Amino acid sequence: MTERLTPDEAGLDRAAELLRAGALVAFPTETVYGLGADARDDRAVARIFEAKGRPRFNPLIVHVSSLAEAGELVAIDAAARALAERFWPGPLTLVLPLREGAGIAPLVSAGLVTLAVRVPGAGIARDLLARVGRPVAAPSANPSGRISPTRAEHVLAGLDGRIEAVLDGGPALVGVESTILAPGPDGTRLLRPGGVSAEDAEAVLGAGLLPPDQGVTPSAPGQLASHYAPRGRVRLNAASPEAGETFLGFGPGPAELSPTGDLLSLSPTGDLVEAAARLFHCLQELDAAGAERIAVAPVPETGLGRAINDRLRRAAAPRA
Ligand code: AMP
Ligand code: MG
Repeated sequence: MTERLTPDEAGLDRAAELLRAGALVAFPTETVYGLGADARDDRAVARIFEAKGRPRFNPLIVHVSSLAEAGELVAIDAAARALAERFWPGPLTLVLPLREGAGIAPLVSAGLVTLAVRVPGAGIARDLLARVGRPVAAPSANPSGRISPTRAEHVLAGLDGRIEAVLDGGPALVGVESTILAPGPDGTRLLRPGGVSAEDAEAVLGAGLLPPDQGVTPSAPGQLASHYAPRGRVRLNAASPEAGETFLGFGPGPAELSPTGDLLSLSPTGDLVEAAARLFHCLQELDAAGAERIAVAPVPETGLGRAINDRLRRAAAPRA
């Protein structure tokens, strides 16, 4: 059963308590209803993808209650600060370099070194975020492939029974998603048009916006601009490793330890939520271990397994 909460003191406290306990809570923003989870809780974030039935681990937007809180998670340069000061709280998302030690679950940014953040305009959303006291990852609160919800009834129509609660704050006002901008060393890229117009953003920057595929994206070894993949060559559906391969397990069976002592298994018990929660940790551990050839145990093509296999197949695809 999905709890239906009203945005009074008791309802906001309950929603915040649920989020801090790792539950999924849908809440109204000024753009659409978001499906929130504690962005520092790997399992809670994995459950977002499960509840939505997303076939891919695309990165999520993290919602915070203030610019100061955003500054604890990402590096804010002059362009980003000017945009944030003008449009936050509001329908603008900024993609910025993730700070080391921010503690964000790697699944939130799909292993990338950048993080998408915003301070939502709706008072209810900011009240909730201030009570949670932690960053909240939230894509739109609809099953994958369906239209974004602008009312609590729409959320329940798609996700009733799959999430712990919905905070009913009436209709979302903007109804379109946030504009996504990525400020960088050679200009600001427009990644998605939305509630803040390109012209208004350009007026603040005193410069034109770049197309999505132009300009420099922060990167690190093993990290492509568009998605994270380990440096090593990846072989999928491996029953066991061949000589020279490092094995990434799933389910009962052999599992190695990484040099940092982490178990190189997506989930020893074969739990797909745990596997999704650990996927990017494990890929990063394989990089840290200097694995040049990686064999991955079979993962079933059901539920979250589809998104896990999508990412593993991309990691295994030939690269330049
Ligand atoms: P949604 O949460 O459904 O509104 O979608 C989030 C959007 O933000 C997707 O289009 C993502 O591709 C984009 N996004 C989130 N994080 C990043 C990032 N680090 N780099 C580029 N795009 C991002
Ligand atoms: Mg969406």
